[in-house]
Amino acid sequence: MKNVLVYAEHRQGATRKVTFELATQARTLADSLGGKACAVVVGSGAGAIAQQLAPYPLDAIYCNEDSQVDAFLLDPVVDYLEAAASLVGASLILIPNTLSGRDIAGRLMVKLRAGIVADVVDFEIAGESVVCVSPKLGGAITTRCALRPGEFGIATVRPNAFQAAASGGTAKIEQLPTARRSYAAAIDNDVEEGTGELALEEAPVVVAGGRGLGGPEPFETLLKPLARALGGAVGASRAAADAGWVPYSLQIGQTGKTVTPNLYIAVGISGAIQHKVGMRSSGAIVAINKDGAAPIGEFSDLLVVGDAFRIVPELTNLIEKAKGNAT
Ligand SMILES: Cc1cc2nc3c(=O)[nH]c(=O)nc-3n(C[C@H](O)[C@H](O)[C@H](O)COP(=O)(O)OP(=O)(O)OC[C@H]3O[C@@H](n4cnc5c(N)ncnc54)[C@H](O)[C@@H]3O)c2cc1C
Repeated sequence: MKNVLVYAEHRQGATRKVTFELATQARTLADSLGGKACAVVVGSGAGAIAQQLAPYPLDAIYCNEDSQVDAFLLDPVVDYLEAAASLVGASLILIPNTLSGRDIAGRLMVKLRAGIVADVVDFEIAGESVVCVSPKLGGAITTRCALRPGEFGIATVRPNAFQAAASGGTAKIEQLPTARRSYAAAIDNDVEEGTGELALEEAPVVVAGGRGLGGPEPFETLLKPLARALGGAVGASRAAADAGWVPYSLQIGQTGKTVTPNLYIAVGISGAIQHKVGMRSSGAIVAINKDGAAPIGEFSDLLVVGDAFRIVPELTNLIEKAKGNAT
């Protein structure tokens, strides 16, 4: 296993942020293995997506504008990935650990008879083997699974686990032959959870709430208006998700999502290590907490000490006023 192949996930004409992260990480891994870093992009708009990927440090981008990919379920994507994998040879295949990415990875694993590791947050190279690091059992343990060299191996990689860096792009864009098969058609494409997932993981601002909010209502009445004013998304600590105040899809941390927004506002969150690992790479971290000694103060850029129920509405109002929308 020398080469690294990335599945370039995109939606409605936009490349998912995680695709850029994987393109960057593919280069690092391929350099360590002495191989090539390549990407596969298929579906309507694939050519434009390939251009968006071109500044990233890949050797080749395999592309097909096949519109059938949009109209049908995931099988055509799996077929294209299988074709590209055969072209590239035994390789490590990086797939975003998203709703559709996980689905595609499972099917591809069967087709290629590949080993697979899910929800990977880090890689290590041990000789010719790639070791995938991934938290398991709700984060209680961290596993290190080595993929066999000389065979196909698949890793679904957690969004925001790696940084994207657009530099050194010299990739050749190559046409993948069109797959000719009949597939089952998708008649409805309304994936609510998928939209929410994207919103939180790619939002430039995240406003997250914790146990300090005392119930589900403040997520609607306090946090949503602040997130809306800042053009961001709402997240939560595990305590809030465990209490049933918000769905688990909003949980940030070791056993939830990793987020890297420009601005992270933690409201009524103490800053446990398991929460910290999911948000510590955010640009600026602001905490609103009534306890001036809360651990989150140790890794925040700004700790606002006071009652969230007084501070958050005032802050929202100030932002709206600055935008000319004050009530
Ligand atoms: C294996 C494992 C995995 C875990 N994974 C995760 C994970 O992925 N994500 C995660 O978040 N946690 C995770 N946890 C749980 C974590 O250890 C903490 O229990 C959790 O993060 C605490 O959530 P919290 O900060 O909302 O609640 P608390 O620790 O109870 O903190 C509440 C905070 O709110 C403040 N507060 C109270 N009232 C107000 C008010 N009116 N205004 C302002 N501030 C107020 C308090 O001062 C306090 O600091 C995990 C734990 C384990 C063991």
